[in-house]
Amino acid sequence: MVDNVKEPYLLTPGPLTTSYATKAAMLRDWGSWDDDFNQVTADVRTQLLAMAEAASDEYACVPMQGSGTFAVESALACATDPNGKVLVLMNGAYGKRAAQLLQMMGRRYVTLDKGDYLPPQPNEVAALLEQYPEITSVFLVHCETSSGILNPLEAIAEVVHSHGKTLIVDAMSSFGGVPISVLKTPIDVLISSANKCIEGVPGFGFVILRRTLLEAGKGRAHSLSLDLYAQWEYMERTGQWRFTPPTHSVVAFQAALAQHREEGGVAGRCARYTRNRDALVKGMRVLGFSTLLEDEWLSPIITTFLSPTDPAFEFNAFYAALKSRGFLIYPGKLTEVDSFRIGCIGQLGITVIAQLLSAIQEALTEMGVALIADLSSQSGSA
Ligand SMILES: *Cc1c(COP(=O)(O)O)cnc(C)c1O
Repeated sequence: MVDNVKEPYLLTPGPLTTSYATKAAMLRDWGSWDDDFNQVTADVRTQLLAMAEAASDEYACVPMQGSGTFAVESALACATDPNGKVLVLMNGAYGKRAAQLLQMMGRRYVTLDKGDYLPPQPNEVAALLEQYPEITSVFLVHCETSSGILNPLEAIAEVVHSHGKTLIVDAMSSFGGVPISVLKTPIDVLISSANKCIEGVPGFGFVILRRTLLEAGKGRAHSLSLDLYAQWEYMERTGQWRFTPPTHSVVAFQAALAQHREEGGVAGRCARYTRNRDALVKGMRVLGFSTLLEDEWLSPIITTFLSPTDPAFEFNAFYAALKSRGFLIYPGKLTEVDSFRIGCIGQLGITVIAQLLSAIQEALTEMGVALIADLSSQSGSA
């Protein structure tokens, strides 16, 4: 599937393994003011709106330089009322980060903290909206990448919408890989970035939001460079990014979008990621690993596995043993239990997952960790 002869596969939530075509698109330099590059920017913005099923007279897509957090910061500054209050739903690092951003901007907020891995429930959100009528917007992380949980976006969106509040969704690690439609689900602000499920390289994030919110966001920014309204206004007027764009990353992203379309869009990509996840979870369970989450909450993006209790298991040695076999995995991000994470996204399929599972079996044997069963015992089962 991919020409990664020497480099390791990245079983991480982004940056991730990109295709040769995406890498090759970067072998050219572009003038940031030139019309050829402006057309790439315009095309990417149009394609992203279409992917979200957002009508272009109601929503706009505004790219923002930097990593995903830069886009989250610019979106929070623009789309939350400085005189209002934000309800931040948290069950991991990215919900916590949003609260930290609001704190630093001097915006008021309340939190619903579910700990490491429990989903916020629609009835809990409704109760808080009734308890604090001054809340103006709600922030939800769709796939909380710290655990891999897929939070109940649709049900929460209905509650937020029925209370007349603005919904801001961090869909960083899900957009493009899990269906999200602003046509079907009342989402006011959707945030994602280049290097996750659309399989581009890092360099920018983007915000898809209601035009009315953008217009209301004029003058709200706490930061010159992260002023989403100013970026939009300038881009609409000139076709250019307000400050130096990550040109190579943008053209690589356009190439990645073409491959996304060829794969069958979000549905096609979601199907492949789901196959990867299913093969991974099944093989890992054969080897004796447990997932942190029950099957119902597992996203097709990244899965958290609990570290074996066998004292012979040590994450750094495990990581090194897998790296020497060509696979990079991801450390855990939980506060309570020892864990690690394996991503299912990027340019890889079940053949690579099968190779990874063999490498994991070898690594465990090398470390002297007792195996529950051998992978060969899995063959033939459905
Ligand atoms: C990756 C990610 C972000 C952004 O992280 P950066 O390191 O700034 O790119 C934000 N939210 C979620 C859920 C993510 O997975």
